[in-house]
Amino acid sequence: MKLSKRVRQLLPSVTLAASTKAKKLKAEGKDVLNLTVGEPDFATPKNIQQAAIQAITDGKASYYTPSAGIPELRQAVVEMIRREYGLDYEAKNVIVTDGAKYSLYLLFQAMLDIGDEVIIPVPYWVSYGEQVKLAEGTPIFISCLQENDFKVTVDQLEEVRTERTRLMILNSPSNPTGMIYTEDELRAIGNWAVQHDIMIVSDDIYGQLVYNGNTFTPLASVSEDIRRQTIIINGVSKSYAMTGWRIGYTIADEQLINAMNNIASHSTSNPTAVSQYAAVEALNGNQETVEEMRIAFEERLNTIYPKAAALPGFKLTKPQGAFYLFPDISETLTLCGYNNVTDWVDDLLEEAYVALVTGEGFGSENHIRISYASDLAVLEQAIERIAGFIEKKIRENN
Ligand code: PMP
Ligand code: GLU
Repeated sequence: MKLSKRVRQLLPSVTLAASTKAKKLKAEGKDVLNLTVGEPDFATPKNIQQAAIQAITDGKASYYTPSAGIPELRQAVVEMIRREYGLDYEAKNVIVTDGAKYSLYLLFQAMLDIGDEVIIPVPYWVSYGEQVKLAEGTPIFISCLQENDFKVTVDQLEEVRTERTRLMILNSPSNPTGMIYTEDELRAIGNWAVQHDIMIVSDDIYGQLVYNGNTFTPLASVSEDIRRQTIIINGVSKSYAMTGWRIGYTIADEQLINAMNNIASHSTSNPTAVSQYAAVEALNGNQETVEEMRIAFEERLNTIYPKAAALPGFKLTKPQGAFYLFPDISETLTLCGYNNVTDWVDDLLEEAYVALVTGEGFGSENHIRISYASDLAVLEQAIERIAGFIEKKIRENN
């Protein structure tokens, strides 16, 4: 069968592929510790589950909804942004989508023409570049050094800026690095974008998951000029343990929201009705569980970080937010006799039953990503197994 050129050049999502592989081994009875996918292990809070059940029994979940989302949910997003960001938007500035992932997809489809350039700092979240390519845009990657906390600078942005630059992506706290941009850094990047009329896609999905006194500054809150230059992407997956419900949203200029809505109306029709009612409760309801889960992630980070940092050859910057460790293991690879990070990750799974994601999916050949959105006991056992695997490989290599 002849498939489209568009799809032939598409890479599969490495995060989802790694997770599928781990789950398959587990189903075969192998004792796999799965630290692949970025997904809270907590069940969705009870009040949110209850709202969904209520929507079903009330008959509200049986029908199509407006394609941009039910008015209550668009309004709940407006209230959330007022509360968390201190910014005023209206419901017409919001589109609710099937996860933040589909918000990004619609946005690129709505904004890019063939060859339009999108600046993506590396390491990046796996789907950015592929989604840009699906919209026939051109991803322009900028390598960001671990020494600079993996952050992009205005000088680097200026180096790659062309007449075709339409968008840049900023993800803070970052998946996979966990780094957070400071207000000053955001101001510098935001002003550069304003000056050159480049829109910034601010993927804020980990904004509520910050630890150890670090704070999240939303790019849109830095100044009024920068707010107008910003497209906010967010969702309920991470903060409310709702990955399976598939609810995300975009906040932007009404014209862009309408364009995205037009595409959504021809593709998904609407995000699942029952999930939308659940998300209203997530955003409007009691927020205590958000803090409880944040504290649990913080404890996991603080327990696991020193142990991971002490593994032979691991060079690890302590993350400030999200729920990933992203060590440079190039030295470990040499010690273990490997010249390729993906082979090391594959063997770790086959031989020690620890599933992680290769840095290659995030644009780095030197790193691995470990999700710590798992139980502490699992995390500690995983570190022990990784240590055992490295020791064995070093022995075999000598
Ligand atoms: N952005 C980033 C940085 C992510 O890590 C994820 C992970 N799923 C998403 C967007 C999409 O999230 P979702 O589609 O579950 O809302
Ligand atoms: N964002 C999560 C991750 O990076 C979920 C998987 C995905 O959507 O790619 O693991």
